[in-house]
Amino acid sequence: MKFLRFSDICASGQAAGKRVFIRADLNVPQDDEGNITEDTRIRASLPAIQMALGAGAAVMVTSHLGRPTEGEPRPEDSLAPVAKRLSKLLGREVPLITDWVEGGFEVKPGEVVLLENCRLNKGEKKNSPELAAKLGKLCDIFVHDAFGTAHRAEATTYGIAETAPIACAGPLLAAEMDAISKALENPRRPLVAIVGGSKVSTKLSILKTLASRVDQLIVGGGIANTFLLAAGKRIGDSLAEPEMVREAQQVMDIMKERGAEVPLPVDVVVADEVSALARANRVSVDEVGPHDRILDVGPKTSAKLAEIIAHAGTIVWNGPVGVFEIPQFAGGTKMMASAIAHSEAFSIAGGGDTLAAIAKFHIEDDVDYISTGGGAFLEVLEGKTLPAFEVLAKRA
Ligand code: ADP
Ligand code: MG
Repeated sequence: MKFLRFSDICASGQAAGKRVFIRADLNVPQDDEGNITEDTRIRASLPAIQMALGAGAAVMVTSHLGRPTEGEPRPEDSLAPVAKRLSKLLGREVPLITDWVEGGFEVKPGEVVLLENCRLNKGEKKNSPELAAKLGKLCDIFVHDAFGTAHRAEATTYGIAETAPIACAGPLLAAEMDAISKALENPRRPLVAIVGGSKVSTKLSILKTLASRVDQLIVGGGIANTFLLAAGKRIGDSLAEPEMVREAQQVMDIMKERGAEVPLPVDVVVADEVSALARANRVSVDEVGPHDRILDVGPKTSAKLAEIIAHAGTIVWNGPVGVFEIPQFAGGTKMMASAIAHSEAFSIAGGGDTLAAIAKFHIEDDVDYISTGGGAFLEVLEGKTLPAFEVLAKRA
């Protein structure tokens, strides 16, 4: 997909003295007192800001924080803690500007300001044309650098991209797109996708799209349980979606026709409750009792999956294969994480809980690309063109 890159614009000197509006994702977790508990997203947004400052631009940055009601600011909706952290990380003062939509604030070339929570502006969510027109007037160059919102068409993610004189992708957004294209458009084969977790019905549509592209599809979690049902196995009280069994069967058929496969678990870890106190049993997939819950893949299955991963050319990972938060059900996901870490394949991973698993098993440095956008990453896997890219391509 073709789109303008902010890095090219800066390199060619076009950003000097210009007003640059960066839509970042600074939606960080906070504790009850408003302290930032984790600042990965703020740190991830620094390259775009530094690039703009280095190019001599007058820089405005905004982001959403939480889900406030438009036009009704509460203290907890404020980006003030983010401004503080950003100031510290950049080593310079970053003033926070409230009521900024109509302009009337000053920012000189070489300076950066943070514009208060964009979801407080009336019309943001619905991408109102009036708001979009005002946003476009604030800047000469719009930079989209918030992949986490790339699947939403809001005023600061879509409307402004239509009204600003120039609209381009920031380094973070461009890197996401490059990594995803590398993994899905022209992958080194075999291409192995791992789809696990608990969002069964939303992820089944992803499986259908992936089925026509991947060489092996590893399923885990609630999805694997639905596939086991489709294969005629008993799964007791496990998380699954019986009404999706036909879809699961179709996925297996599509894959089979292409000589590809969906390896199903041969052994599983079961318990009668999802709890840290639960007693876990390893059983063959044919021995699952009526009150058992399948909460992880067993060691034989893990070894088989690790083998597949070891021979992959490209790996796309979303969703843990077990309830990895609880030690007795973490074995499968841990083994998979380690197989991905040791593999020579180009690997890309995304999803909120998948990132938690990556952190838990300390493989951050061994995954080639970790996507920051949960919902956006899933929609790309589904084969959708994200609104952010559609509009940037249109403007390119
Ligand atoms: P992601 O956020 O990475 O897209 P999901 O939100 O779909 O992933 O699923 C993650 C959750 O799925 C984890 O909290 C994990 O405990 C749960 N999970 C994994 N396997 C099972 C299973 N067999 N039964 C129930 N829950 C599971
Ligand atoms: Mg999740």
